[in-house]
Amino acid sequence: MATPTPRLSTLLGWLASNDIWYDTSALRIVDENGAIRVVSTGKGADVDAVVVRMPKGAVMSPKNCQVGDLVEEAGLDGEIALALCLMHERSLGPDSPWHGYIQSLPLFEDAPLLWPESDVTHLLAGTEAERAAKRDFETLKEVYETVVRPVVQKNETWFVPREKFSFESFLRAMTVITSRAFLVDEYYGDSLVPLADAFNHRSDGSGSEHLHIETDLDVCPHCGAKFGYCMHAELDMGTSSAGGDGSDGDGEWSDASSASGAEVVEDDTPEDADEVLSLPASDVTMGDIESVPSDAESTATDPDDAERLEMRVVRELPKVDGEEVFNTYGGRSNAELLHRYGFTDERPGTNPHDVVLIDLDTVLQTAVSESLLPAAPAAAPAKSKNKRSGSAKMETIEERIELRVAVWSAYRGLFEWDEEEEGGEDEGEEEEEVAEHGHGHGQESGHRHAKDGSCCAPGDDGEDGEGAGADDEEEDEEAPLFPLRSDGSPSASLISLLHILACQDGILRRLADDETGAAAADFAEAVRVGHGGAYAGEKEVEVRAVKGKSGAAAKGAKGPKVVWVAGDAVERVKKCVAVVARTRREAYPTSLAEDEAEFAKLGFSATAEKGTAGVVDNMRLRSSLVVRISEKKVLEAVLAKYAPPDVPNGSQARAGKTGGKKKSGKK
Ligand SMILES: [Zn+2]
Repeated sequence: MATPTPRLSTLLGWLASNDIWYDTSALRIVDENGAIRVVSTGKGADVDAVVVRMPKGAVMSPKNCQVGDLVEEAGLDGEIALALCLMHERSLGPDSPWHGYIQSLPLFEDAPLLWPESDVTHLLAGTEAERAAKRDFETLKEVYETVVRPVVQKNETWFVPREKFSFESFLRAMTVITSRAFLVDEYYGDSLVPLADAFNHRSDGSGSEHLHIETDLDVCPHCGAKFGYCMHAELDMGTSSAGGDGSDGDGEWSDASSASGAEVVEDDTPEDADEVLSLPASDVTMGDIESVPSDAESTATDPDDAERLEMRVVRELPKVDGEEVFNTYGGRSNAELLHRYGFTDERPGTNPHDVVLIDLDTVLQTAVSESLLPAAPAAAPAKSKNKRSGSAKMETIEERIELRVAVWSAYRGLFEWDEEEEGGEDEGEEEEEVAEHGHGHGQESGHRHAKDGSCCAPGDDGEDGEGAGADDEEEDEEAPLFPLRSDGSPSASLISLLHILACQDGILRRLADDETGAAAADFAEAVRVGHGGAYAGEKEVEVRAVKGKSGAAAKGAKGPKVVWVAGDAVERVKKCVAVVARTRREAYPTSLAEDEAEFAKLGFSATAEKGTAGVVDNMRLRSSLVVRISEKKVLEAVLAKYAPPDVPNGSQARAGKTGGKKKSGKK
């Protein structure tokens, strides 16, 4: 066996002295081709066996770094807070408790965030990776100027030398964080996890990773103890059962107190109860965070689950000595992989998580150019409750579209049924998620959880694609983006919006006038049943037969029969999907065929070159081509499914009705 490199020896020693155990009979850590990674010994390990185990305290998190408090008090959290902690620990050199680990890390990953802008614009033109890189660069620049720099300046005894905390260093640290950090639990949050981050990601979507990382997320957010095994839990319970009532209303508090009986209160320590109850619940909690953690840790009675991280074998390890062992970072498109990790799949067009996003403008322009809306009503019915349609004036097409988008937007949650199984993160985020990630700073960091292509979708952030060039008016930051997926399916959100744009005015009025959402739910169900099957490529459904539930309570019940989705709307919506895909394709300056030809010239021997100086440009080109080809294949899949004969699925050079405004200059 080869002698370990100095940095690998240092890392191995550090792992051992920090109780980070791995099964040396199954795994071997190597330092090859400029990167540390984990390979199989060939001897294997049982499925379900734990092959890595460490105390959570060994991870690097704002919770246990020296500047963690400073950073969190400044309002930073999630990945950005962790990046600043890493920069500080790195600046300490051998004095950092994580030195043996940090010295094994790369200084940065060559993600587009660090590329010269000309590379991003040139190599990634029109891609989701370009959109993400430009968006995050701007966001991080603003965070740096408004929060990070002031923190560094205000605490100059901590952050020395100053040049190690430049914007450039911050961006570099961010690429290390986005490519390596894990969500450890509700206490540690986003953290660097030594050794676990040495396993590379395999993302061919076939579930071919060998290991999963396991952690008990559900711990006390104040001290990290297993939930229910620390004094915070008791305090929280005390405040929610009694203090909560007290803060709700002045009058009710004394009632509740007397009703529950003075004796009961006296059974507790009266002084404590008074103190707690005299404070708003939030103050109690804040106090706990600052003063109690160390005590609470010692009172945890069941530390085992909550205080360690493990990696478990989920699939037979490679039988060949030296073959790489993979973890998974979750389902990610090639654009996301490049954006967050600085690499892509080896082969383009095989990643089921690849996705292309459509902006709202493109959808609406398509609706206009394809005459998707029904003919304008000649005269508005006088007794309509709808103010707009009651107006004597003819509405402009813009006004009609605006109303329809507003209706879609009002019931948007109902129209995203394909995302529900993901936990509906675009709608109400759970409290835990807020704690986990740095959403407050606009940094997209919620993507670590396994997500399908919808993850850059509505709700995330909606800047106009640079290459789309539809119009330059200022974009609403909330502007939705509609995913097209690698299997050729548009998102439910897009289908729903198109159907609302297409629906008859009578249906629109029902939706707009309905305050309960029942009509919208019926409409969504009709679209889902009628098109969920059809658009998923499974089966056509007789859409006319779909009835509303709001009027007629049950099937067969007598009542007004509402045809929520007219039969001809199906074909018109389908055609719009194809036009939208074709329009999106025009954002790319090169064609699929051109990209594939260029990619073929590069060959496939990418992994050996990673990290090697001198081939960076080639790696950038290669990764960019993987993203470009993958995205274009998504569009091809959509067009293959939806393009009717009169929507040409040919050369993009043919500017369509909606594509007239687009630049399509070939290089
Ligand atoms: Zn606690």
